[in-house]
Amino acid sequence: MAIVNVIGAGLAGSEAAWQIAQRGIDVNLFEMRPVHMTPAHTTDRFAELVCSNSLRSDRLENAVGLLKEEMRRLNSIIMIAADRCRIPAGGALAVDREGFSSFITDTLCSHPHINVMRREVDDIADDGITVIATGPLTSDVLAQRISAITGRHYLYFYDAVAPIVMYDTIDTNKAFKSSRYGRGNDYINCPMDKEQYERFWSELVNAQTAPLKDFDKQILFEGCMPIEEMARRGKDTLRFGPLKPVGIEVEGYRPYAVVQLRQDNAEGTLYNMVGFQTHLKWGEQQRVFRLIPGLGNAEFVRYGVMHRNTYIHSPHLLLPTYQLRDKPNILFAGQITGVEGYVESASSGLVAGINAALLAVGRKPLVFPADTAIGSLAAYVSMYAGNDFQPMNANFGIMPPLSQRIKNKQQRNQAIAQRALQALEDLISSPEYGIGEGNN
Ligand code: FAD
Repeated sequence: MAIVNVIGAGLAGSEAAWQIAQRGIDVNLFEMRPVHMTPAHTTDRFAELVCSNSLRSDRLENAVGLLKEEMRRLNSIIMIAADRCRIPAGGALAVDREGFSSFITDTLCSHPHINVMRREVDDIADDGITVIATGPLTSDVLAQRISAITGRHYLYFYDAVAPIVMYDTIDTNKAFKSSRYGRGNDYINCPMDKEQYERFWSELVNAQTAPLKDFDKQILFEGCMPIEEMARRGKDTLRFGPLKPVGIEVEGYRPYAVVQLRQDNAEGTLYNMVGFQTHLKWGEQQRVFRLIPGLGNAEFVRYGVMHRNTYIHSPHLLLPTYQLRDKPNILFAGQITGVEGYVESASSGLVAGINAALLAVGRKPLVFPADTAIGSLAAYVSMYAGNDFQPMNANFGIMPPLSQRIKNKQQRNQAIAQRALQALEDLISSPEYGIGEGNN
């Protein structure tokens, strides 16, 4: 039976190695820390949480809560550790970060099917099965190798994204669809009068920004200016930039300023705020951007971020199984695939791990149903149809709509969650899923 190589013992690589090993297949798990540290990690532990110690909402009516429940049912090591190391945090699942990563490290290091190797990997073997899970801070030498394999235009080093909101939370009594000069209906426009603009501008320039890490400063030299920074250049700068009102009329008048949102997915359930790359703290984004007419109750499925992030152009490169289209024995997992967040990264490691195990025993890899949160992320990164592929958190907007219409949002989300868990149970009980001696 083939040995599987997993590169990187972060959130995704740890989960992938566990899933493979639990199926009775031997794994070489490569981790470069502590020999070679990343700019963000501070320990030699596996699955280190580099920033917040929260794995976010634990409620089923929230997409990341659903994702976690699916992972529990798939025997995820990340979820076993999180539930053991849970600390009080209301409706969120926060963990004791030391206990969390120590548990994962000890469990994997003592697993009979896992051989841990502490070194920086600088190449990817042509033979054998490999899962690449080296994360947003993939070492430079390996990033160059990945770029050679995938094509240099398909590897990104920075993530500068504007917030994305759920379409059905935009107030269409205040916002309206139209392109500039009446050339179609491609944008949602949020018009502002002078008073609304000045209040928004004042809150924006005074809002709190996230601290910039040294390795993130480069992004500001890459020609990508945060909206708050642009606003600080003068009261009217935004009105001559991303908020310019030209070509847009409301009842025959040109508004004082206009925020535009552009459709972000083929289904039209998500819209991104044009030109709103930002470094504001997430809470501040919600507070300030909700001042925009039409966005008073907007639900942000992804906040704007500007940080170092190595990721591949998965829609060109990956199958929904996380296999490389051209080299199906190479799989990618984690943030490097364009999923965003601890839990999302681990979830892709889980799918890639199961599929690497199936490949190792000569079986067909699995595509998880798009009705599940875990499958919807795999579908999103591998099949995103737009021009501007950006990393994405778990959210209900990338899952197929229900066949029946449910107006109440909480009930609707509960119904989506029930459908997802049923689809997952069907998959788990199918003959395609189970192999080996382990957890399946
Ligand atoms: P990682 O967890 O980073 O794991 C990758 C592993 O690969 C690392 O252990 C690294 O040492 C190793 N590695 C890299 N190159 C090599 C090599 N050549 N050979 C061997 N090993 C290698 N998400 C959240 O949900 N909440 C947050 O608060 C949050 N904060 C973040 C803060 C920063 C500064 C960054 C960069 C990201 C943050 N993220 C956050 C995003 C993301 O979810 C995490 O980075 C997450 O850890 C990604 O999981 P991963 O497994 O893909 O990568």
